[in-house]
Amino acid sequence: MNRRGFLASAGAVLSLGVAGRRTERPPDPVVVRVWFSDAAAEREGLEARVDGYLTAALEAAVGAAEIDFAPSPVSLPAEDGRHVLAVHWPAKVVEGAVGVGRVDPVADVNLLVTDGDPREQPAGYARPHVAAVTGAEFIAKMSPVAETPSVVPYSIQSAATQLLLHEVGHALGIGHEHGSAERDGDAVVASPMVGSYLWASRELREKHVSDRNACGRRVPSRTTASERRLRLRYAECAVQALK
Ligand SMILES: [Zn+2]
Repeated sequence: MNRRGFLASAGAVLSLGVAGRRTERPPDPVVVRVWFSDAAAEREGLEARVDGYLTAALEAAVGAAEIDFAPSPVSLPAEDGRHVLAVHWPAKVVEGAVGVGRVDPVADVNLLVTDGDPREQPAGYARPHVAAVTGAEFIAKMSPVAETPSVVPYSIQSAATQLLLHEVGHALGIGHEHGSAERDGDAVVASPMVGSYLWASRELREKHVSDRNACGRRVPSRTTASERRLRLRYAECAVQALK
């Protein structure tokens, strides 16, 4: 697929398939442009956290990443809810891609970060080239990436930060099957593409997480008694798929 062609094609965002992306990896960096909602833009430290965690994870995965912040926030009808994340934002990106409206999209990932509550479902949303996450308040409270190990205890802050990586991963064409989970002593560590689904209700977990990932690695079957930890870098299987 021609990445630059995305911007020239009106229906590209709606019709692109997940499979086949980046089959020929261009040498230029993955570019993620980030928009904050009005409320998210008020969160001190948010830009540094989004920049830090996305850069660290993407550079480890694909070698080079460019995180670019839109100069002004976007006014949304609400900070969360399926309509804003899954309908309103993608429509704004499509409008921008055809030269209508104020959103100026990039070819790789167009990410919206809102101040919505990440404990409400849906906490995030993605389709090829477009991603949206709630949780600005909690991402802003995360410790700086340089002071944070790549595996951290589960908390609202770390889950919201991992959700950034999860939705950006989807926007780049990878799925839950590229995630991994592993035991480390009494803990279970979930990678970004598996994330909180590992501890979700049985029904939700079975819908989103298989016993083995796309690379054949087993996902631990019983996790209830274990300490929960989150990995803030993509699993090897996701890295292979991104390349
Ligand atoms: Zn997902």
